Amino acid sequence: MQETLRIGFIGLGAMGEPMVARLAAAGYGLAVYDADVARTARVAAAVGARAAATPKDVASTSDILVTMLPSSAIVEKVLDGDDGALAGLAEGALIVDMSSGVPDVTRALAGKVAERRIAMIDAPVSGGVSRARTGELAIMAGGDAASVDRAEPVLKAMGTSIVRTGPIGSAHAMKALNNLVSAGGFLIGIEALLIGQKFGLDPALMVDVLNVSTGMNNSTQKKFKQFVLSRKFDAGFGLDLMVKDLGIALGVANATSTPAPFSSLCRDMWASAQKVLGSGQDHTAVAKFSELVAGSTLGGDENGK
Ligand code: NAD
Repeated sequence: MQETLRIGFIGLGAMGEPMVARLAAAGYGLAVYDADVARTARVAAAVGARAAATPKDVASTSDILVTMLPSSAIVEKVLDGDDGALAGLAEGALIVDMSSGVPDVTRALAGKVAERRIAMIDAPVSGGVSRARTGELAIMAGGDAASVDRAEPVLKAMGTSIVRTGPIGSAHAMKALNNLVSAGGFLIGIEALLIGQKFGLDPALMVDVLNVSTGMNNSTQKKFKQFVLSRKFDAGFGLDLMVKDLGIALGVANATSTPAPFSSLCRDMWASAQKVLGSGQDHTAVAKFSELVAGSTLGGDENGK
């Protein structure tokens, strides 16, 4: 049991909810908050946490405050103002931003909170909802060594791989670049299935071949049969969030004057899919956009066979 360290958690969505459950299972005393009041009450009751009324309220009982929010803009908003988390945190507290954020905004925020003697690290995650549930997330950690040391036991309750990426903001850059690679692998794989199907190959058989060949990637292994060929499109990671992450990755490319034409096309494809399909889609629904472009639909029954 971790009797002494008190943790506050803001953002109880697809990822936050299972992450909070891991922290509760590790014995941490928890206060939780989400803008959705009913969600806050439900998650608090499920894990035995205190349901807080505002970000300030959750922060007022937190030695470590974790944020798992859609964007850096929302993290900023949650920290600011009379009811904001910064108004509730005591000197010496630590903010662990596990959202996928914008490196420059994170750096600026860390500077701002440091004026109040509050430390901050960025600790975004990879692995999705399934690995959040099992506590096997891959966690990237950016910040000074002492702050990451302090957060590490808490991070270990949620993840099995914790990699220190460098100074504050570096983990957010790394996370966006990871998703760039993931997004590219998804799109090229779907295009290959569409080409192959028109040629006469069976898409499910193609996935099997890719998975024992050099074309294998996370999408061929864990997404194509499960969420695309099955037509379920419910992996749990939003298309809007992926487009945000690709924007961050391209922002890092611009800031470092790195020409990235392939990445730029990849971002444009995902952003076009968001425009055509509308917001609120699962990211795997991007395959429907590729299908529209190709003028054909990938076959498959409910089991992706
Ligand atoms: P989500 O949309 O499911 O959940 C976000 C939660 O934040 C919601 O419950 C929402 O009510 C809450 N929220 C929004 N504005 C708020 C505010 N002002 N105050 C308090 N709560 C607020 O998102 P998610 O999928 O859980 O993703 C969270 C973060 O993790 C994002 O940055 C995302 O890019 C990243 N991420 C997601 C996945 C995934 O598979 N879903 C994987 C890795 C990283």
